[in-house]
Amino acid sequence: MQSVHLNGGVASVRRTPRPKRPEGFALIRLLLGGICNTDLELQRGYYGFRGVPGHEFVGEVVEADTGSLVGKRVVGEINLACGQCDWCLRGLGRHCPRRTVLGIVKHPGAFREFLTLPERNLHVVPVDLSTERAVFTGPLAAACEILDQVKIPRGGEVAVLGDGKLGLLIAQTLAAHGARVHHFGRHPEKLRISSAAGATAELMRKQMPVAAYDWTVDATGSPEGLKRAVAMTRPRGTVIMKSTVHGLVAIDTAPLIVNEITLVGSRCGRFGPALKLLRSGRIRVDDMISAEYPLRRAPEAFARAAQKGTIKVLLRPE
Ligand SMILES: [Zn+2]
Ligand SMILES: [Zn+2]
Repeated sequence: MQSVHLNGGVASVRRTPRPKRPEGFALIRLLLGGICNTDLELQRGYYGFRGVPGHEFVGEVVEADTGSLVGKRVVGEINLACGQCDWCLRGLGRHCPRRTVLGIVKHPGAFREFLTLPERNLHVVPVDLSTERAVFTGPLAAACEILDQVKIPRGGEVAVLGDGKLGLLIAQTLAAHGARVHHFGRHPEKLRISSAAGATAELMRKQMPVAAYDWTVDATGSPEGLKRAVAMTRPRGTVIMKSTVHGLVAIDTAPLIVNEITLVGSRCGRFGPALKLLRSGRIRVDDMISAEYPLRRAPEAFARAAQKGTIKVLLRPE
């Protein structure tokens, strides 16, 4: 079978044997994969990664212990947790200290014709949800995670900074939740997507609103984003941190203390709410697909995904 490999900054496609299915796992045929910023970071060599990337996917189960799964379209939670530690018993396998992570940490990823994942990680895709939309489940779950962590009432005013893939999903998710979302970005063509989904789109400017929002989400992906988000947040407000920045972020803690601002780190989330939200049709993911490539042209797809202005690039085996 074909599988994508990353090594020393270079993406290539190799022929490899089909993976063996361990007990408790499903063997899954890839239907569609999505390239995310993490994949591009892995390509650049973060986390010392070498191997098969890919954690956003929709597949079809070809073999499993549970017979009813076979033939079903599935998406999969990416953390392979131990199932026994305190975190796992609390339903927070995403924080299991012994976890491996699909396509990121010690478990080969989804950018190959066949992959394996524990059955308990899988969610069956509803029949009325297209594969092209379902491939957004993982990243959308990361947006939904905010609502699991922070209580934002309907009508609450929220600022979302950054109009990359995640910023677009967050702005739309919070708008669908009923918040009054001010989405700040640098790309009018991207902001059009979130404004069509009900957010108020605003171009980033030198003078950003000061102490204006009870909740501010930083999804800029830049070291300056956090500082800006803190300045925009009202006293006693909350800043949700969605930018993973490599290296240190310098921040003046005085405004945090004086204004009693809460910082919330936020990563990936539950797939259930994301699937439900996708099914509602309120998230305009169709508008977020910039290009699709066959799996064998993955190196081109990675190059395209890294280009400025690109949103989501998909990979499809032939
Ligand atoms: Zn991702
Ligand atoms: Zn565990």
